[in-house]
This record gives sequence, C-alpha cells and structure tokens, in this order.
Amino acid sequence: MHEGQGLPAIGGDPAREYRLGIMGGTFDPIHYGHLVTAERAREALGLDLVLFMPAGTPAFKLDQKVTSAEDRYAMTLLATATNPLFDASRFEIDREGTTYTVDTLRALRAHYPDNVKLFFITGADAIMDILAWHDAEGLASLTTFIAATRPGYDIVRAQEIVEASGIDFDVRYIEIPALAISSTSIRELVRDGKSVRYLTATAVEGYIRKMGLYRAEDIERVEGAVGQ
Ligand code: ATP
Ligand code: MG
Repeated sequence: MHEGQGLPAIGGDPAREYRLGIMGGTFDPIHYGHLVTAERAREALGLDLVLFMPAGTPAFKLDQKVTSAEDRYAMTLLATATNPLFDASRFEIDREGTTYTVDTLRALRAHYPDNVKLFFITGADAIMDILAWHDAEGLASLTTFIAATRPGYDIVRAQEIVEASGIDFDVRYIEIPALAISSTSIRELVRDGKSVRYLTATAVEGYIRKMGLYRAEDIERVEGAVGQ
C-alpha cells in the first residue's frame, strides 16, 4: 500500500522498530546483481522492506538518447513484483533534475516516524565513492549503510577509505554471492545481439526486447546516479 509521495506505508506500530532498506541505482537495466544484493542485505540486517529507487534523469540530458526514467522504473517494477518484501519507488524519477541521495534520505526521514530506521544499500564500488557524494556529513547522520561485496572491487580498501575519512559513517559490510553482472555488460550484450538470459529477470529481458532498448550504438547514459 502506498501513501503520500508514493512511499510505502510502514511504521504504523509505535511500539516496534521498522527497518527500511533503500536500494538506489540507475537500474539501466536492473539485474540479478541488484536483486541478490538487496535480498542478502534484507536478511543480514532484518529489513522489513527494500525500496528500489531508480534515479531520475538529469534535466540537462533530456535532449540526449538515454533510457527513459519510465522504462527504468518499469523494469524495476517487473523485477521486484514477485517479492512482497521488495517495492519499486517513483520517488526520485518524479522529481525534476538531479536528485541527491542526501535530499532523498532527508525527505524519507521527514516522512516516516522515528521508529523507522533507514538503511541505504550499496555495492563495494558505490561505498568507495561515498566521500564524493553531495553532503557526506549529512548522509552519515541520516542512514546506516549496507555495503556488499562486488566482483572487481576491493571492499577492504573501501572500508579503509571510509574509516580514514573522519566522518562518522555507520557502514555494515556484508559478503554476498559474487555475481559479475553489471548493467553496462547487459547493455553491451543486447547491443551486440547476444543473450542476456539468466542475468536478469525473465520479465525484464522480455521488456528489453519488446521495447527495443539498448539497440542503438550511440546510447548515452545517465552518469553517476548512485550517490551524488
Ligand atoms: P552500470 O554498469 O550502468 O554502472 P551497475 O550494474 O553498476 O550499472 P547501478 O545501477 O550503477 O548498476 O548500481 C546500483 C547499486 O547496485 C550500486 O550500489 C552498485 O554498487 C550495486 N550493484 C550493482 N551490481 C552489483 C553486483 N553485481 N554486485 C553487488 N552490487 C552491485
Ligand atoms: Mg554502476
């Protein structure tokens, strides 16, 4: 069930704590790496719900060929539809221009009562960049981070960088089954006429084919959408 601002209704029982996971990303397209990360994070930290939040399309890119926010949202919805503890959110795509993660978390913090705790889920690559995100100090005060291992990225190094920052981030590091899948590699496979079966949900694969996504050679991407 969704209430104001398209956010799920949780936190109703003031006597208990609720744990809301937020999985941010471009999701261009969403794939099993994202889904496994969210599911392992949900179980490791006892999250009540994981909200998948596709990043909006920056206004300055509207004249370029990018996968529309609506297509990215539709694929996110398809991929999460069968899991009652996952939800897709329009929150960022319905906002104009670049949405900073800190602004989204502030809005969520203001929206939910104090018994709802926020957990922002990332892979090892994204957590490594955290210091470059807009208002890192503000972020640290708003959420706990869950950082998952990802093939090709050194999570121990990421941890060292975060700890050396002097900012009081609360990061929980989790080891998850290694899936060397990226949206970039899926776009390249589709562009080259190759199969993407078993890399993402069947419904997402079907949607990519049906809508003819990722066929053009000159596709421009939404850059830096995770953590800004
Ligand atoms: P792109 O190749 O376009 O950058 P991506 O596969 O990295 O796409 P994003 O939408 O950029 O996907 O990432 C969203 C979040 O999911 C980030 O926090 C990223 O670290 C995490 N993530 C993506 N793929 C994996 C994976 N295979 N294992 C662990 N974490 C992942
Ligand atoms: Mg990425």
